[in-house]
Amino acid sequence: VFDVSPPFLNRLLYGQKRKSLHAVNDVSFSVPMGGCLSLVGESGCGKSTVARLVTGIYPPSSGQIRFAPGKSGQPLSAQMIFQDPYASLNPRWRVKNIIAEPLRELKLIDNDAGIQARVAELLGIVGLAASDGEKFPHEFSGGQRQRISIARALASEPEFLVCDEPTSALDVSVQAQILNLMRKLQDELGLTYLFISHDLSVVRHMSDRIAVMYLGRVVEEADTETLFADPKHPYTRLLLQTIPNVNAPQRNREIAAGEVPSPLAPPPGCTFHTRCPLAQPRCKSDRPELLPKADGARVACHLA
Ligand code: SF4
Ligand code: MG
Repeated sequence: VFDVSPPFLNRLLYGQKRKSLHAVNDVSFSVPMGGCLSLVGESGCGKSTVARLVTGIYPPSSGQIRFAPGKSGQPLSAQMIFQDPYASLNPRWRVKNIIAEPLRELKLIDNDAGIQARVAELLGIVGLAASDGEKFPHEFSGGQRQRISIARALASEPEFLVCDEPTSALDVSVQAQILNLMRKLQDELGLTYLFISHDLSVVRHMSDRIAVMYLGRVVEEADTETLFADPKHPYTRLLLQTIPNVNAPQRNREIAAGEVPSPLAPPPGCTFHTRCPLAQPRCKSDRPELLPKADGARVACHLA
């Protein structure tokens, strides 16, 4: 669906603070039409920056983002779903007006009766009642609010959804409901997803492929089955170890091996060498390239 090619972004000036933030380098991947690629990594790895570049919220300082044409022959339309639905829903608006806003703004429907009918249909698609449109965002639970933001994102009939930690503010049981809804919508509407999470277990059942990011770079990318069965990068293995195992006593999910260095001053050589249990002298000076392996994975590690 889209293809992000290097050199992608070297430096990003963020807001008025003019502080460079989450530099992303040489990130390159493509998402197949109707599929789901997930970007996974700890906070500060640059995954949200990639999401905002793809949806056009930030401009890239170099490199390119190419979209395949969608069904209409026009470039694919993308919408974004954020982590905190409450922050992205106007608290003073009734839900029906929140969902109708893109319909009005993009002039997709030009009469009020049509807009009302479409809003009711969108509420139904995400599992809410038409009467919920009369309420305000604060009258809903976190999971219901995420359903509202999904309905709003779907209003403009996007073919491509960029989802930045859409369930990480929710309880585990509610998380599962929203993930199931998103999978159902993907099937029914033929959507394509770029899904962003810090948690490999969340993306496991959503993703066709997974790209693991560390300090602004993709360190491993593989189809989901291969990544879980045969993780090749020491960082991917570390992330997998933090997934709780239902058969084992609850483990501390914090990653034990040291602090993540500042993304503003990444270490030289392999950026993971300060935390890597397998680091060798050359890892401190030579940066490993992301290279293809026989099973279709790509890995950036001297030992892989
Ligand atoms: Fe670890 Fe070296 Fe591989 Fe980096 S290149 S992940 S430091 S072994
Ligand atoms: Mg983020």
